[in-house]
Amino acid sequence: MSAKILILEDERDIREMLAFCMQQAGYQIEQAATAERVFALLKEGYKPDLMLVDWMLPGASGIEFTKKLKKDPNNQTIPVIMLTARGEEDDRVQGLEAGADDYVVKPFSPRELLARVQAVLRRSGSAVQVTDKMTYGEIQIDTAGHRVLVKGDEIHLGPTEYKILHFFLSHPERVFSRGQLLDSVWGQQVVVEERTVDVHIRRLRKGLAEHDVEHYVQTVRGSGYRFSNK
Ligand code: CA
Repeated sequence: MSAKILILEDERDIREMLAFCMQQAGYQIEQAATAERVFALLKEGYKPDLMLVDWMLPGASGIEFTKKLKKDPNNQTIPVIMLTARGEEDDRVQGLEAGADDYVVKPFSPRELLARVQAVLRRSGSAVQVTDKMTYGEIQIDTAGHRVLVKGDEIHLGPTEYKILHFFLSHPERVFSRGQLLDSVWGQQVVVEERTVDVHIRRLRKGLAEHDVEHYVQTVRGSGYRFSNK
């Protein structure tokens, strides 16, 4: 089954161009012009594997939409790629802070967008898993069910945070630079700023903090990050 992608963009020409590109690549597409329409679709039980969300929308902006989406436990694991005309780093970080998993700056080529889509889908778990359970300290990942348990309670993480945690559990006690984390978690094909790593680490810590285990993710000054409970 090909992945389902929802496109939220009010400008019809751009939306249809995006839909065309994604269909050509074999994805199943749903289109929406407003945030309200997307929430109505989700309520009806539609569950996309990824959303492309335009920043500039009439009414609720793409940022507001993403924040609202990521607050809902039923929908917060759906990856979001923000489409933005704003190239400033602070704006892009603002998009990530709102809960977006990645962003593409307009104008972008269909090829660039496809690479981003494929990378995010890969991170969100289409990859083949070899083991069922990984445990470190009080944290356990059920890789088959894509669930994270802390002290036996399930916590909900975004797809990128899940992938980082998965990587950390596979390589505990070792220091990784931001560049190494980018290569391992995002993949070498995708160009991402190192500051992006810090945003996702912050979100991972926030998720772990619900059960007081955020100290497992340690900052190693001048080097990067280490996953350890020591
Ligand atoms: Ca727009």
